[in-house]
Amino acid sequence: MGGYGDVQMLNEDGTRMDGRRPDELRKIEIEAGVVPVADGSARVQWGSNLAIAAVYGPMEAHPRKISRQDRCVLDVRYNMAPFSVTDRIRPGFNRRSREIGKVTANALESVVQLELYPRSKIRVEIEILTAEAGTRCCGITAAAVALADAGIPMRDLLVSVASGKINDTVVLDLDKPEDNYGQADLPVGILPNSGELAFLQMDGDLSVEEYDLAMVYNMKATKEIHELQKAALAARYENRGEQ
Ligand code: ADP
Repeated sequence: MGGYGDVQMLNEDGTRMDGRRPDELRKIEIEAGVVPVADGSARVQWGSNLAIAAVYGPMEAHPRKISRQDRCVLDVRYNMAPFSVTDRIRPGFNRRSREIGKVTANALESVVQLELYPRSKIRVEIEILTAEAGTRCCGITAAAVALADAGIPMRDLLVSVASGKINDTVVLDLDKPEDNYGQADLPVGILPNSGELAFLQMDGDLSVEEYDLAMVYNMKATKEIHELQKAALAARYENRGEQ
């Protein structure tokens, strides 16, 4: 988020550099059940972003100090592969990956019925194989499908998506140049059936009107992504039936 309002990223007809309308998502593909050894898994290709999420558990909570008497804990890791961007990333966790892991865990806690598994933990691993802005949204959307694929009881699915601002115009789902030179970014987590917010982060500034429009775009996109999540889980269920 550079805040370079003077870098022109909109065409004269109001479309964006990659041809999308302001309220248009990048192309998204979702597949459930891609990691055979995991209890549940999903792949989300979102523009050039590619995330794999794998879920293991519920299992006994170890180490003991993380265990909770009355509920399950979510042990979430978000990691960008060293080859996921053109500059090689140093392997291992850093401040950013820990922050995204924490945001993801908090958001998933809004939907997973943790009280059903006291003293247990569920491991959620998110690996970003290619990154081109919006990887937290891609990873969270994948993790929700992976949890459902693992048969973990949930109050709702969870969709994550972002809107932002470029050239004083609110747009949905910023790509990398838009993220670099844009003026604001508003990633959110939304429970698609209830419309409740599971998390909201904001980078840059939006007026109240711009915020309202960004949330209209986010809500509309949530419905589209939710359909893809459901289709991925239904396809997985049908394939299981054939095995
Ligand atoms: P998000 O991926 O959720 O948008 P950020 O806003 O922190 O999260 O990152 C935006 C983008 O910047 C990432 O998707 C990735 O393409 C790039 N990026 C993030 N961290 C690094 C890094 N350490 N090295 C190179 N590029 C990075």
